[in-house]
Amino acid sequence: MHNPVPRLLCPFCSREYKSDVALLAHAESNKSRCGIKSHPGWRHFVDQITGGLIDVAGRDSAGNYNYVVSPEAMALYGPAQTKVGALDKGVPENGYVVDEW
Ligand SMILES: [Zn+2]
Repeated sequence: MHNPVPRLLCPFCSREYKSDVALLAHAESNKSRCGIKSHPGWRHFVDQITGGLIDVAGRDSAGNYNYVVSPEAMALYGPAQTKVGALDKGVPENGYVVDEW
């Protein structure tokens, strides 16, 4: 059975992408002719496309955006959620050990 390839449209220029990673690379690229990075909704777009994991933390002196792990993601997945002693056994493949989901 053929599964359709999901298509994502850039909300600014309507170009079509096969993955969220490709769409974000398009939007974030300085070589892109798309103007979404200069749109007031850029921070919201980054939040949506990364599922709330990444937040825009301002710009440097050259005008490039700085990105951080969002406070919400740190509260959910960050080091504070790591079980004491769990890292003594080695870091699991999926990263940090989280107490409860
Ligand atoms: Zn675009």
